[in-house]
Amino acid sequence: MGTTLSQEALPGLTPVRATEVYLMDCIFCAIRDGQIPAVKVFEDDRTLAFMDISPLNDGHLLVIAKQHHPNLFEISDEDLAAVSRVAKKMALAIAKALRPDGLNLFQANGPAAGQTIEHFHLHVIPRWLMDGKGVYWEPPVKGDANRIKDAAEKIKAQM
Ligand code: 5GP
Ligand code: ZN
Repeated sequence: MGTTLSQEALPGLTPVRATEVYLMDCIFCAIRDGQIPAVKVFEDDRTLAFMDISPLNDGHLLVIAKQHHPNLFEISDEDLAAVSRVAKKMALAIAKALRPDGLNLFQANGPAAGQTIEHFHLHVIPRWLMDGKGVYWEPPVKGDANRIKDAAEKIKAQM
C-alpha cells in the first residue's frame, strides 16, 4: 500500500496520531477523509483535486477518485470518466492561472511504472519550455515493424 507519507504531511499531529496515520492503508483515503492535511482545490461527489506535496513544477496537482481504486486496471469506468473530466477542468484553470507553455497528464500503475501511492490518481503538471523537468524518450529510433505489428495483434486479440 502507499506508505510514502512524509513528515511534511503531518504538521501538528501528535506522534501517536502520526503513527496511526502512517500505518493506515492509504494516504489519499486519509486526505479524502480530512485525516491528514492537503491543499484542496476542487471536490465533487466522485473526485477530489489537491496540490502535490512534491510538485514537479508550480501548480502540479493530483486528481483522485474518492472511492479507493488502486490503479487503472481496477477503477470503474464511471470514476475514470469523472477523474478525466475534472483533470480537464483543472488543466483549463491552470492554463488561465499560471499561463504554462504546456501541460502533462501523467498516471502510473505499479512500481515499475513509478506508482508510489496505490490509490488511482492523475497528475496534472504545468510545463514551461526548457523547464528541465522533461519526460524524454530516447532520440527517435524507428521501432521494429514486426514487433510493433505483433504487439498490436496481441492487444487486439484481447479486446
Ligand atoms: P505516484 O508516484 O504514485 O504517481 O504519485 C504520488 C504522488 O503523491 C507524488 O507526486 C507525491 O509527491 C504525492 N504525495 C505523496 N504523499 C503525499 C501527501 O501526503 N500529500 C500530498 N499532497 N501529495 C503526496
Ligand atoms: Zn485510498
